[in-house]
Amino acid sequence: MPDKILICQNCHNPFVYSDYEQNLDAKSGRPEPLYDPICASIKASEAKHPPKPKRA
Ligand SMILES: [Zn+2]
Repeated sequence: MPDKILICQNCHNPFVYSDYEQNLDAKSGRPEPLYDPICASIKASEAKHPPKPKRA
């Protein structure tokens, strides 16, 4: 499979979805990534440590 260029849904920057990653995700049954690696790691850390609600 050729490398694909995807657009990050968070920052709208293009990023490479490599042949290697496509194969890994296909084997695991995962969909194409929505976010580039940087935003994906930010999203992952937010999921583990949700930002505290702002105090009024
Ligand atoms: Zn991004």
